[in-house]
Amino acid sequence: MSEALTHDSIPAVNPATGESLGSVPVVTREQVQSAFHRARQAQHNWGATPVAGRVLALRPVLDLMIERRDALALKISEETGKPRFEALVAEVIPTLDALDYYLRNAETLLQSERVAHRLLRTTRSTLYHEPYGVVGVITPWNYPFFLTASIGLSALFAGNAVLNKPSEFTPLVGLEFERLLREAGLPPALYQCLPGYGATGQALIEAGCNKVSFTGSVATGRKVAAACGERLIPVSLELGGKDPAIVLADADLERAVKSLTWGAFTNCGQVCASVERIYVQESVADRFTERFVESVRELRQGPDSAYDVDVGSMVNRLQFEKVSAQVEDATAKGAQVLIGGQGQAGEGEKARYYYAPTVLTQVDPSMDVEREETFGPVVTIVPVRDADDALSRANDSPYGLTASVWTRSKDVAERLARGLHFGSVFVNDSLAPSGAGEVPWGGVKASGFGKSRGPQGLRDMSRIKHVSVDRFNLRDNPIWYPYSRDKYRLLSEFVPALFGVSPTRRVKAGIRGVRTGLRAFFGLG
Ligand code: NAD
Repeated sequence: MSEALTHDSIPAVNPATGESLGSVPVVTREQVQSAFHRARQAQHNWGATPVAGRVLALRPVLDLMIERRDALALKISEETGKPRFEALVAEVIPTLDALDYYLRNAETLLQSERVAHRLLRTTRSTLYHEPYGVVGVITPWNYPFFLTASIGLSALFAGNAVLNKPSEFTPLVGLEFERLLREAGLPPALYQCLPGYGATGQALIEAGCNKVSFTGSVATGRKVAAACGERLIPVSLELGGKDPAIVLADADLERAVKSLTWGAFTNCGQVCASVERIYVQESVADRFTERFVESVRELRQGPDSAYDVDVGSMVNRLQFEKVSAQVEDATAKGAQVLIGGQGQAGEGEKARYYYAPTVLTQVDPSMDVEREETFGPVVTIVPVRDADDALSRANDSPYGLTASVWTRSKDVAERLARGLHFGSVFVNDSLAPSGAGEVPWGGVKASGFGKSRGPQGLRDMSRIKHVSVDRFNLRDNPIWYPYSRDKYRLLSEFVPALFGVSPTRRVKAGIRGVRTGLRAFFGLG
């Protein structure tokens, strides 16, 4: 009997309108297993294909994605509730960017490397980037296309097969990417999308994946890491954030206001790298706050019927309730709502949950909104004395995904950027550079570990094999048996010559070593 994982099917719904988009069958445990076996078979050929061949096979994906960009943006918008503009600019375009980057650079990035030895002069070493095998890619709903496709593609370029578990809130987008790869001519078993709930993600890990890339919440990330730890499977974790922005008195306030409004409310604030805390220097705090609230007031929220909204709906009831609870907790403890502060609860689990873009002040670390990830359209503004005050408050968080610094001083910007404990720091910018194809992405602390995208994202999808070849085939080696006191002394005398700091010391130690050798083996010196 086949074992259904939690439910038989997933209802797909447009969260902005409540319109049903159909339903998607949940794969069974047996289907996960057989998908894994098919993937493993397909990976043998794919992994043995030179990188140039993989690049050739993946090139049509770019053309097809370009051709279908508007249809893709619409599909993503319908299943996530985000405006089509956001689907194009933050899902389709960055995916094309990542794909294009790997098409151009994968061969160089995965090239084998020669290593010159200092000690083992008779040895020649080469490092090879080899695929893991079958990589499990578990992804969330907030950027269901970009995260799934960019991570999935890096795994493919590196020679792996991929099993993707899309979020139960966006299975259609997951299946759409699978379809795109197949229509571009990729063998079907090489990339398989396996819709389901959390149990399906678990089943994927249990099926025997050789590596797991997980993007999602910290709570699930811990479970995934534990499951991988038990099986000793390497895992990379892209988790949540509580991202700060530091606005100093000399910043271009107009640019900061515009960029941070976008950074806090794009994707309805449902971004791991969303700006959730703004620390602004006291002397400009009133001016900044006033302009910021004005800018938020101009945002138009609703379903995207005519490309005329800026902020969409939240993805589901759960997320809406989490945001409402944080704002209620904050106001009960004395926070002041400058704009927003409430939402329009929708129907059922998935539809029409619109929380108004919200700005809070008078917040402190006793409030959940200042410590926990909100993942919704809420941002706090806190006045600070100076750059150092801002730095210590920004770093006082369990998370470490991104931070931004706003100042005209290059020196101050660099000092703060180096002092911030985050995976990425943006100077006079927010959020946008996190999607770039040529730079690595990933957090520190509770925001996870491992990198996706950029050179490191590709290499993280492969393991290094070291192959060492003896060049001269000599009959003996002084480190082999038998050991003796003389051999020991000889080796010991040479240690300073090999590693000593000053050249004179090295030469002296070298002479001493030669003398010891001569004495030991020939009675000379
Ligand atoms: P989630 O953790 O609830 O789910 C993520 C995925 O994990 C889903 O596909 C889900 O079905 C699956 N899953 C659930 N339980 C599982 C289990 N026990 N084993 C294996 N898989 C399981 O996260 P979400 O609500 O979909 O996404 C929102 C979170 O993702 C936020 O915290 C956000 O910050 C984070 N996120 C991080 C990044 C990043 O790059 N750092 C990007 C996007 C989202």
